[in-house]
Amino acid sequence: MTELITLQLLLEMGEMRFYIYPVVVKNNDDLILIDTGYPMFLPLIEKEFETKGLNIRNLRQVILTHHDHMGAVKDLVMKYPDIKVKCSAEQIPYVLGKKKSLRLEQAEKFGADNGFIQMLKSVEYLNSVLELRDNEIICDGVKVIETSGHMPGHISIYIEPIKTLISGDMLISEGGVLGIADEQFVLDKEAEINSLKKIVNLDIEKIMCFHGGEYKSNNLKEDLEKIIIKGYNG
Ligand SMILES: [Zn+2]
Repeated sequence: MTELITLQLLLEMGEMRFYIYPVVVKNNDDLILIDTGYPMFLPLIEKEFETKGLNIRNLRQVILTHHDHMGAVKDLVMKYPDIKVKCSAEQIPYVLGKKKSLRLEQAEKFGADNGFIQMLKSVEYLNSVLELRDNEIICDGVKVIETSGHMPGHISIYIEPIKTLISGDMLISEGGVLGIADEQFVLDKEAEINSLKKIVNLDIEKIMCFHGGEYKSNNLKEDLEKIIIKGYNG
């Protein structure tokens, strides 16, 4: 049986204060964490596991939708060395620190808050990571879907038995409205729209957004179609 448990983690930095929503996939007793948030978040993750009645010792894998969300992953594997970390082939050089973080590059380019830039610079990279292929099955009915756009090699995770998509940063939920991130956060707009076209026909009732958390709708297909039509034109 597959279940989802959403973690709610608070980032507080100067005037910045917002929640992020990594997700735990529970497959029988095995736990898989999708994304880890920001550096220094390990204690928050551990506390949320406890609050939600999850034993972190059952955490077998961490899947990164992309390197923006690797934050606490180094601390996690240092403390729990049996955890396997996985991401797409295109994201591997960033997760290993062999290529400069695209998020850091973006933040510097757009003059983001200095504290935020310093935090991105403090991310610790991994020594090894496993590759996930497009359409790979992670466990019963849990599938990788390559959804580039926000970044090359960004992936989403489709959980077919419970009609849910974990969308990383491909989609955001803001004030109960589903949408795509601002242009400046999308490195390839055409790829982003093509990724949405890939997921629009999936049987989905719920989307888990890293920014904004759960989005549920009876007309999810219509909501996605509207986003695709609107694109980045307005
Ligand atoms: Zn991102």
